[in-house]
Parts: sequence; structure tokens; C-alpha cells
Amino acid sequence: MPQTQQTLGIIGGMSWESTQQYYRLINEGIKAQLGGLQSANLLIHSLNLAPISELQASGDWQALSEIMADSGKRLQAAGAQGLLIATNTMHKVADRVTAATGLPLIHIADATAAAIHQKVLKKVALLGTQFTMTEDFYRSRLTAFGLEVIVPDLESRKEVHRVIYDELCQGQFHDESRQYYRQVIAKLADQGAEGVILGCTEIGLLINQNDSPIPVFDTTVIHAKAAVDFLLGEAKLSFNQTTL
Ligand code: GLU
Repeated sequence: MPQTQQTLGIIGGMSWESTQQYYRLINEGIKAQLGGLQSANLLIHSLNLAPISELQASGDWQALSEIMADSGKRLQAAGAQGLLIATNTMHKVADRVTAATGLPLIHIADATAAAIHQKVLKKVALLGTQFTMTEDFYRSRLTAFGLEVIVPDLESRKEVHRVIYDELCQGQFHDESRQYYRQVIAKLADQGAEGVILGCTEIGLLINQNDSPIPVFDTTVIHAKAAVDFLLGEAKLSFNQTTL
């Protein structure tokens, strides 16, 4: 078991509610592997979600690319040997971050697809922001693993998206919203989904396996595990090669 770790840079704060989960999960993973007083060798740049969410809503992905590339470069200058973007949605500009830094990036969709692939599932449901549920930057990484991806209907997608920004990213976890998500998942299971991806890093704060009749794949948990592998030098090269 290696006692030295690589240095991982986390672009976080989107939201800080989920970044703190990453921080805890990655440290727990390192402790489980190395024991004693060992903790994770991390650099975290925590961004302000308010201006970022406004730029997302106005569709200014050019400005968002620049913010994310700048964050990656700052982490690189501070010594990061690899990067992790602690949100699904902002992977829309992941390629710009790798182009700006040349660093390996642990892609959340690739890590998730690999975890589903291991369970030999074929058809999965995807919950997340409207960007994540409908745009190719995310779905194409899943279909590349041979997965069939289904999403809720338009009305449900709008509500799933609203709950993320108006509630979960603001630390609000309401029973009505939990119920709503449960119904959405049940409907997707009826449509043949064999598993459901919690494709937004805050959804796991609202629901868990007990709320779903089909296996749940929590992207925060899966991504944090991949981060631990990277820190310990066990990163799957495919995460990097497909992104670079
Ligand atoms: N954390 C969320 C995600 O995983 C949404 C917040 C954001 O826009 O980054 O997509």
C-alpha cells in the first residue's frame, strides 16, 4: 500500500453543500485505505455558485469556460497533479479545463458509466440539471459505454432542475421534493430503467437507495471513490485519455 499520495485539485463550490460531501468522502476513503492519521492530499478552489448559475441560465458557456480554466490553472500552479470538477453540470466545459492545463481530469460521467458497467446494467435513468439530462456532453459519455439512457418528461425535468437550484444547492431538503423525486424514479423504473443515476452532486443529500425501487448510482460517491484511486496512484488511465 503506497504511503505517498498524488495531489488532487478540486474545482468546487458548485455547490458547497456537495463539495463538503466530497471532502468528507475522499478523506474517509483515504483513511479506510491507509489508516491511522492519514488524510487526503487535496487542494480545493471553492467558486461562488451565484454568478455561475446566472451565466448557466443565460447560456454564457464561453465565460464559464474561462472561469473553470482559470480555476484549473490556479490549482495547477498550487501543485495539483490532477483535477476533479465537483459538479456534473460543469463538465460541459471539462475539455476546456484539460486544454488549459494539460492535467489529467477525473471525469464524473466516465467514472459513473464504469460503475454501472460493472453491475452489467443496460438501461439507466438520468436525473440532474436540464443541462445534464438533455445535452450530449454528459449522455454521450454514458452511451459510449453501451448504456441506454432515459430521462424524465419535460415537466418533470423542469421540477427536478428547479429543486436542485432553489432548494438542494441552498441546503434545503423538503419532504415534498423527496416525494416528487421518488415518483419520478418510480415512473422511470416502469419505463424499464434498471438503475438511476443521481447525476447532480446534491441529489444524494435528498434521496438514497431507500427511495428507489432500482439501484441508485450517486455520482458524488462514485466520483469521490475515483478521486481516492487517483490520490493513491490507481487512477484508470481511460478517465484521462478520453478527456485529453
Ligand atoms: N452540483 C450540480 C451538478 O452536479 C449542479 C450545480 C451546478 O450547476 O454546478 O450538476
